[in-house]
Amino acid sequence: MRSLLKKNTAYLWSPEIDAEFNHARKILSSPLLVQPFDPSLETHLLTDPAKKHGLGYGLIQYDTPRVYKNIWDELSLIDDGNEGYLLTWGDRIVIPHRARNEILSRLHFSHQGLTKTSLAAKSSYYWPGMNNDLKTLIASCTACQKYQASQFSEPLQSYTLDQTFPTQLMAADLFDFTGINFLAIVDAYSGLAKSAVKNAKMLLRKCKESDTDFSAALHEFRCLPRPNSLSPNQLFFGRQPRGLLPTLVPQDVPLDPTLLQNRNLAKIKNNQQTDESARLLTPLLPGTAVLVQHPVSKIWGQTSIVLHPLDNGRSYESECSISGKRFRRNHKFIRKFIADDALTHDLNIPGSISSLPVPHTSPPPLLVRRSSRISQQTKK
Ligand SMILES: [Zn+2]
Repeated sequence: MRSLLKKNTAYLWSPEIDAEFNHARKILSSPLLVQPFDPSLETHLLTDPAKKHGLGYGLIQYDTPRVYKNIWDELSLIDDGNEGYLLTWGDRIVIPHRARNEILSRLHFSHQGLTKTSLAAKSSYYWPGMNNDLKTLIASCTACQKYQASQFSEPLQSYTLDQTFPTQLMAADLFDFTGINFLAIVDAYSGLAKSAVKNAKMLLRKCKESDTDFSAALHEFRCLPRPNSLSPNQLFFGRQPRGLLPTLVPQDVPLDPTLLQNRNLAKIKNNQQTDESARLLTPLLPGTAVLVQHPVSKIWGQTSIVLHPLDNGRSYESECSISGKRFRRNHKFIRKFIADDALTHDLNIPGSISSLPVPHTSPPPLLVRRSSRISQQTKK
């Protein structure tokens, strides 16, 4: 039809052009593009005046043709022979606004992450902003939020990095092993502060298993050199005390000071490497609703409200929405709660289009649902 607008072309209305015209008219007047006016949506009035013969206009609401501009020429309309139309782009069905929530629910039926879900969606469907809707859907799924992994560890703060002599900074932590309380104290200069409790617990467990004396095992643990470093005893005392292992060279001689210098350099480098796997998390503002990961079950179940940051923003004091109990947790174990009404596609607009192909065994209509327990919590 466009050929008729070219210069030096005879204006001939052929049967082919007539068919094209009717097809275009069908697309433009199809229920996929012409929908009941919704006063709650942003509306644009597009106008196009002709020199003498009046004014054309269109009342446009959200994803009407403007947002399909880039793919407009590749869209097709399939007539289902029953007053219904399916708008397609290649092999993909263009999903109208009202059917999107249903398609999104079905896409997330198996509760998979964005990568897989997005691949599935892109192979069959299209709508503007589809990937963002998938992101929101997955982020706000109650079940997926509940079973997420812990957040990333945040980078170590500098005070844990720059000790240059023993006892400059000591760290202490309480832990429980078989019902007995232990206090682990570690010199940050050893570079083992981060994993002190983990190491101590593991050693206790193995000593119990092998019926070994824990104090003797701990002494040997302190005598063992570390990769690119020295043994904790060498670092702390500047020499290696006698242990279980017979050696040719006497061990209790003072260390060559350059060994310590080299070790300090290696330690800084090592800490920088550890930091590369860490991520800075987006700070949480007071009043933010968060989910808290249970330390044992690892389930993100408890909803709480952030009160204020602690430890330079690495931890937060929060208050449980149900019990009102206050507690502090590292940011790794709390994350922003996203309510499952985050998607705004309204399924309840009258005149909703139902011409989508429906599989023979339809899944239940509403698949992403908040558990009653959580919804009770959030009502408070
Ligand atoms: Zn899910």
